[in-house]
Amino acid sequence: MPSEFELIARHFSRPAPGARLGVGDDAALMKIAAGQELAVSTDMLLAGRHFLPDTDPEALGHKALAVNLSDLAAMGACPRWALLAIALPEADDAWLSAFSRGFYALAERFGVDLVGGDTTRGPFTLCVTILGEVEAGQALTRSGARPGDQIWVSGCLGGAALGLAHLQGRVRLDPALADKCRQRLEWPEPRVALGRALRGLASAAIDLSDGLLADLGHILERSRVGAELELAHLPADPALAAVPEDLALDCLLAGGDDYELVFTAPPAHAATIESLAQRLALPLTRIGRIVAGADLVVRDVQGRPLAHHKRGYDHFADSGGDAL
Ligand code: ADP
Ligand code: MG
Repeated sequence: MPSEFELIARHFSRPAPGARLGVGDDAALMKIAAGQELAVSTDMLLAGRHFLPDTDPEALGHKALAVNLSDLAAMGACPRWALLAIALPEADDAWLSAFSRGFYALAERFGVDLVGGDTTRGPFTLCVTILGEVEAGQALTRSGARPGDQIWVSGCLGGAALGLAHLQGRVRLDPALADKCRQRLEWPEPRVALGRALRGLASAAIDLSDGLLADLGHILERSRVGAELELAHLPADPALAAVPEDLALDCLLAGGDDYELVFTAPPAHAATIESLAQRLALPLTRIGRIVAGADLVVRDVQGRPLAHHKRGYDHFADSGGDAL
């Protein structure tokens, strides 16, 4: 059986041109450019809770990094370096090889260097820490939304949650649709370019990991404001049209794992944001507005508030319920 050091050398030791010193020493060394702040975030993935243990390891390598890139995207930061801590029940060379392929493919696409980590035997867990740079004082946060701001979302919503529902046998999709939703679940695309472009435009931003209502709820709390959403304006994943309405609504409003960005901006920026959608070839949809107060109201086509209270997945509130 290969040793910990052989596994690291084999799978996690590609060159790190953006670091002074990468994998192999007691710590990595990196220099931050003048005028930049360091943006740091970490995300843990547990087998059975955040992913099914038999998930394609290449997809898992992609997703472990993608969810971290998504956090930096939501801050408007430019990702630069990553650390990877892995606990594996046994040293599985084939698994690690596929996992690192997925991880590095995405890392290289975004110019991110893997500069360190930890590898140990133990209950199957992955933890990625991402470091990036953002111009000092320019980071997007959750706390800047103001009454009158418009609320926007990128891409479409609910496909990943529907993919999970399919994998868990809660719905049967036809094979082509199941593939599309599974792609959304397992290969999320972090919206880094959008986050960067929103500096100076958005008043607040967050990435969608736990569902629209839950994550928008975090902006509302941090900004001490309320919001009104128009159900008819929400960009539903086309796949949602193929399933019963209550499941579709649940995926749309409370489904996690889409990794789109939700952001707020003053109406004066609307035209610029629309041209951004063109430039990035990424739909950006206005879904509502920020209001005074603390309530999050979703209105149906008739303008009636929807009685939909399930906000999204909370790892402590729902004891291991329907999310992974
Ligand atoms: P230490 O015992 O000093 O913590 P380790 O033996 O755990 O060092 O790791 C040796 C080197 O390999 C370190 O530079 C560490 O950052 C790196 N490393 C360990 N595991 C990983 C991994 N999964 N991915 C990337 N680098 C790793
Ligand atoms: Mg160590």
